[in-house]
Amino acid sequence: MPRVCCHPRVESLPVPWPRVFELMWEAYVAGTIPVGAVLVDGAGQIVAEGRNRIFDEPRDGQLAATRLAHAEINALVGLSPEHRYPYTTLYSALEPCHLCLAAATSSRIGGVRYAACDPYGGAVGRLLPSEDMRVHPLVVEGPLEGAAGLFPELLHLRHMLWRVPDGPGVVPFYRREHPDLIALALRLPEPPAASTLGEALATVIE
Ligand SMILES: [Zn+2]
Repeated sequence: MPRVCCHPRVESLPVPWPRVFELMWEAYVAGTIPVGAVLVDGAGQIVAEGRNRIFDEPRDGQLAATRLAHAEINALVGLSPEHRYPYTTLYSALEPCHLCLAAATSSRIGGVRYAACDPYGGAVGRLLPSEDMRVHPLVVEGPLEGAAGLFPELLHLRHMLWRVPDGPGVVPFYRREHPDLIALALRLPEPPAASTLGEALATVIE
């Protein structure tokens, strides 16, 4: 079982990660896939935010109740097509999928940073670049070190163990490739359980 030291207080993570983690937890408690995302401009200000709403109700003009309602898409969807955003960075709790990496390029932002790897659905390094992607390159950085780089992956896995315990997809993948993470994720409360992000972190991070 992995041992991760340096139990982080979420609020002590550098900006904007605390907000990304809050949005991730909000999605988890709502019973949808736990991913949060924000956009940060060149001055370091959060200019947009989104969370996964695939299994949630529409709100705040964001995509919801569709398989396309990924956190990153909801953070990007309000950007005006009249501009380009080379100094804007998308921060996501989890390694972006093909859809979201491609959306970042299409939105003309400059970079993507993610907290935790997603060895099942993550697309970093797995996209076959088009000419458009070569002309508008994205700087992609991640994962974070230590507990902050593991917890979002565990929370995502815990959601899947709750939603689709018998697969197909994420759960069989982890049972085969990372059974130690299944055991760790099962320590977390089920999504509707009354808990806080800090309590959940303390459950799995030593
Ligand atoms: Zn995605």
